[in-house]
Amino acid sequence: MSLEKIRIDKRNLAGQCIAVVGGGPAGLVAAFELKKLGAEVEVFERNDHVGGRTRSETRGEFSFDVGALVLLPTYKNTVELLHELGLDKSLSRSKPSLGIVRDGKVCSFDYKRPLRSSLLNPILSWPSKLKVLKLLPILIRNWTRLNYQSMAGVCDFDNETTKDFCLRELNEEINDYLADPFIRINSLTGSDQAPFGEFLWLLRAYCAPFIYHLSEGMDSYAKGLAKHLAVHLNTTVANVEENDGVVKLLCGCGKSYDFDACVIAIPPLFARQLGNNPNGNHQPYFDSVEPVSVISVHIGLSFRPEITEALMLFPKCESEEIGAIIFEHNKGLGRAPIGKAAVTIQASREWSLLHAELSDAALIAALLRCAIPFIGDVRTAIEESFVTRWDYVCPVTYPGYFTLLQEFCESQPGNASVVYAGDFYSGGIEGATISGRRAAAKVAKYLEAKA
Ligand SMILES: Cc1cc2nc3c(=O)[nH]c(=O)nc-3n(C[C@H](O)[C@H](O)[C@H](O)COP(=O)(O)OP(=O)(O)OC[C@H]3O[C@@H](n4cnc5c(N)ncnc54)[C@H](O)[C@@H]3O)c2cc1C
Repeated sequence: MSLEKIRIDKRNLAGQCIAVVGGGPAGLVAAFELKKLGAEVEVFERNDHVGGRTRSETRGEFSFDVGALVLLPTYKNTVELLHELGLDKSLSRSKPSLGIVRDGKVCSFDYKRPLRSSLLNPILSWPSKLKVLKLLPILIRNWTRLNYQSMAGVCDFDNETTKDFCLRELNEEINDYLADPFIRINSLTGSDQAPFGEFLWLLRAYCAPFIYHLSEGMDSYAKGLAKHLAVHLNTTVANVEENDGVVKLLCGCGKSYDFDACVIAIPPLFARQLGNNPNGNHQPYFDSVEPVSVISVHIGLSFRPEITEALMLFPKCESEEIGAIIFEHNKGLGRAPIGKAAVTIQASREWSLLHAELSDAALIAALLRCAIPFIGDVRTAIEESFVTRWDYVCPVTYPGYFTLLQEFCESQPGNASVVYAGDFYSGGIEGATISGRRAAAKVAKYLEAKA
């Protein structure tokens, strides 16, 4: 997947001033690539830190990835940049176990013994295990089209929900215990909403012999990029407009700045507030985006529960409240002292929406109660606890969503003064990285043609 690495032609952008809105992976990658081409680049970030939805928090002796959790080996562009930034020292390969809950028990899939695990795993009955093989020819036929470069391959399977496909071609058990938990941890919706193509795409993305672990935290990627860049923190951009080849940025504080070009690398939900991009009609797609929001509770424990999984996934039929539990200390080294544990309980999307008004203390108490059957009653062992609330994790997807997205992508010009980047082009950190590299290439092409 994404075996194609994005290459940017060598160009000389000396003397060109470029703005990048958004200090998440997409914006920082765009800025980094443009700076390498000789441009003067300034990044505008509304928060007091870079990283966007990749954020790591340390509390006392415990470290948590409170946003993005997993780096996959299919992230070729991201891994290449991590090496370029010298971050390969903190990048290690990890083969953790992944569990899916069924009838209150955790059915574990061991990355170290994938075949044995798949065969003996009680998550599916033998008839369902045989039936699930029907997905293999579809996956093989579409292997190279299910990539991070574009979601065009997903569009071929965009006309029905994953659940409808499962009930038509597979069975309810496969829907409930395989498709639904996978979609719940990744897209945070459910198999009754996400199109079948998205499930296929996820299966392809996760078809890997290991995961990567960044010992310094997932935001070390963004921090590593930002070290090389001029970043204005606490600076919200309120509007971007272009007049006679000059791109004007208006910041929330009232100051405005002129640039030769601009990359807007913020999620669609925020990008639609920035005014009309002169280069392409983005509004119909941006207006269609509905955010997925989620609440997570993070706890540092004075002892380590006897659980070997790094990730425990919950089908909706097993828990209405919990989407996943992440055992940070089982992901890789350096998250909790030996004998102690760093655990994140991620609520389901529905639960998060219903309980958004609760105080942090009430959320911690409520989610810990729900987790007792799976991690035991750890309430007297808590050394640290805090809550993360993400208003925007990703767009809600539904049949037809990827077709709309594809139309938007195809309407974007190949070179322009104002271009978009972000993980909405394709998923996760790799999607953001590829789009950042692409945006840099488009802006460079525009400036070269203008010169
Ligand atoms: C809970 C959670 C779990 C996830 N798990 C994974 C995972 O396991 N693997 C994976 O690959 N991905 C995961 N992701 C997704 C991953 O974090 C994103 O794909 C990635 O961060 C997208 O990068 P981006 O630069 O496109 O956007 P963002 O990271 O959202 O960065 C956008 C930046 O723009 C800033 N901004 C917004 N509006 C303005 C404005 N008007 N002016 C200035 N700045 C602005 C924001 O503050 C933000 O810093 C997860 C995300 C969340 C929230």
